[in-house]
Amino acid sequence: MSAIDSLPPLRQVIASHQLSARKSLGQNFLLDLNLTAKIARQAGDLSGCDVLEIGPGPGGLTRGLLAEGARRVVAVEKDSRCIPALEEIRAAYPDRLEIVQGDALEIDPLAYLTPPIRIAANLPYNVGTELLVRWLTPPEWPPFWQSLTLMFQREVAERIVAKPGSKTYGRLAILSQWRTEARIVLSLPPEAFTPPPKVSSAVVHLTALPEPRYPADAQILSRVVAAAFNQRRKMLRAALKGVAPDIEDRLLAAGIQPTDRAEQVSLEAFCALAREIAS
Ligand code: SAM
Repeated sequence: MSAIDSLPPLRQVIASHQLSARKSLGQNFLLDLNLTAKIARQAGDLSGCDVLEIGPGPGGLTRGLLAEGARRVVAVEKDSRCIPALEEIRAAYPDRLEIVQGDALEIDPLAYLTPPIRIAANLPYNVGTELLVRWLTPPEWPPFWQSLTLMFQREVAERIVAKPGSKTYGRLAILSQWRTEARIVLSLPPEAFTPPPKVSSAVVHLTALPEPRYPADAQILSRVVAAAFNQRRKMLRAALKGVAPDIEDRLLAAGIQPTDRAEQVSLEAFCALAREIAS
């Protein structure tokens, strides 16, 4: 028995279903159910929500989310070996767990979810950033989710919450902070996982803002920011040369010095520049 439910401990689940961790699937499992319940609590009030979980593996976080009161959990797992272990959780929580076997990059989760929706995941590192960028760049805002509670390598978590002037400030910070409130809520050492990864990890909680912090066209902002940070050592007048013919004038009109470098420019100023370019 574990502290949070009547199912067997995760070590036993892994042994009985022979779930040896596969590096190719980014498998670093959390086996401490008190820790997975703690991560689930960072996601906020789950009682009236459907929770989308990507990569449940043997189900540690899934059990945390259910024990913490999620109305329903929709768990998308690529590794078919994990499905029988997840079926045992489904039997213990009737009507509250839907298991979807497949690749999260290819499945449309909306087919399985009813709003309000939160997303929580100990993401496979190989697909984590791509999923985050997709969730942050939907065709319409507000998005289909209210919040994201996601485990990342510490270095990626720092890029999400980075402020201007820091080495980690870049496209991910702008994308995240433009339309969400993002903060690191938990730090985890490698030993929290089995097998331990090479690096530390952190949980980031992102709450969707009802509307962007500053007005800007999403596609223009994205193009400007990508060009600016692709050549982050260059002055902006050079890095953004291809974005608009009169880029020096546009930079000045947005209150940015053409000799500045991308990492010195605030989110607000990037949005002003995107508006200048659109006009
Ligand atoms: N959530 C579990 C935990 O906390 O112990 C497992 C986390 S492990 C870091 C990542 C999980 O994502 C693995 O179970 C892996 O099989 C699964 N996975 C990897 N790539 C995936 C993909 N493209 N779509 C869905 N699941 C994937």
